[in-house]
Amino acid sequence: SLKPRPLIAGNWKMNGLAESLDQARAVAAALDAKPAGARVAICPPATLLDRLSAALDGSSVLTGGQDCHVKTSGAHTGDIAAAMLIDAGASLVILGHSERREDHAETSALVAAKVETALTAGLEPIICVGESLAQREAGSALPVVTAQVRESLPAALAGQAFSVAYEPIWAIGTGRTATVADIEEMHAAIRAQLVELFGGHGATVPILYGGSVKPDNAAEILGAAEVGGALVGGASLKAADFLAIIAAA
Ligand code: PEP
Repeated sequence: SLKPRPLIAGNWKMNGLAESLDQARAVAAALDAKPAGARVAICPPATLLDRLSAALDGSSVLTGGQDCHVKTSGAHTGDIAAAMLIDAGASLVILGHSERREDHAETSALVAAKVETALTAGLEPIICVGESLAQREAGSALPVVTAQVRESLPAALAGQAFSVAYEPIWAIGTGRTATVADIEEMHAAIRAQLVELFGGHGATVPILYGGSVKPDNAAEILGAAEVGGALVGGASLKAADFLAIIAAA
């Protein structure tokens, strides 16, 4: 079938020092001994990316960045260019995470431009969308998220490898997850939008769920219709938890 393997991506956010590399090494060793059905990636803080990529070299675990700048280089203090992520061994990049949209006022238009930059550099984007609690309670979750999909995904994605991550903001780091019914409803709406934008290719793009995915809810979430993987924050920091989620995919 055309269905790609699920993707389980760990987002370490602003967590992780040198000792965290041991957790990643443990994940890789376990997957080398017992290969997973899913593709697996870890997106560490930028300071660890080069060392993590080296530690995982030769394993099945991919690495990714958590953001990149829209420009390819230049006077942008504190930012990271897509080519620098590639240079540090990354093959993926998370773009448009709600924490970037909130903390750094990133708009969907900027996210779309970053996606183009990432693709040009050769990175596979994981593009995040998701509604706030106020938007869900107002009944506008579906239109908000489908608009984010339309506005954050440039036409340049046609035929390219990428995924979309649906992360309801109220479920991130809160221990609260969306119900399977809510996840399936949203993923179906995102799928319809992807097919509208990209035709047959849009039917195969993995749609990840993110928001308090843990070992004890992973099987239920990953078994839901149109869930093609997970973006995992907190639970990706511990090898045993991350491996349990990977095994559920
Ligand atoms: C995230 O922010 O990408 C995320 C899913 O975080 P958590 O799993 O900690 O809710």
